[in-house]
Amino acid sequence: MTFRVGNGFDIHRFSDDPSRPLVLGGVVFQDGPGLHGHSDADVVAHSIADALLGAVGLGDIGMHFPDTDDRWRGADSMALLAEVVRMLDADGWSVVNVDCSVVAERPAIAPHRQAMCDRLSEAVRAPVSVKGRRAEGIGGLGRAEGIVCLTSALVERSGSPS
Ligand code: MG
Repeated sequence: MTFRVGNGFDIHRFSDDPSRPLVLGGVVFQDGPGLHGHSDADVVAHSIADALLGAVGLGDIGMHFPDTDDRWRGADSMALLAEVVRMLDADGWSVVNVDCSVVAERPAIAPHRQAMCDRLSEAVRAPVSVKGRRAEGIGGLGRAEGIVCLTSALVERSGSPS
C-alpha cells in the first residue's frame, strides 16, 4: 500500500463588505463578517485542497484555479475541492482522512463543526475532522483580522492513473 501525506495552509482577512457571507467548510455562518477573496474565500476548503494537491505532487490551488482568472470570481470553493478530488482520482489516489485546525478569534466554530465535517467528508469521500482554535489575542489573528486554516491529509494509491 502506498500512502502520501500533505499539509495545507490558507489565510484570508475579513472583508470590509458587510454583505459578504462567511463560508467555512461549505457552511454559511450567519454570524459573519465574510472573508475577503476572489472566490467565496472558503479558507477551510482552500487549505484542504492544497493539502491534497501537495500530497500527490499536483502543485497547489493557485496553479489550478488562479485568482487572475474570472472563471473563479465568486466561485463555490466546495466545487473547487470536488474538482481536486476528481483530479486525485484520475491520478489513481483516494483520500484516507483529513484533519483541520481553524484558527479564528471569532466566530465560534463549535456550533457549526458537525455540519462542516459532514459537508467536507462528502466532498473528499473520506472522514474529515475540524477543530476550532483561538489565537489567544496574539497578532493579527488575535485581533480578529482574519481566519487561518491548517490541514493534514493522508491519501493512498487506489489504482493506476487513468
Ligand atoms: Mg484561499
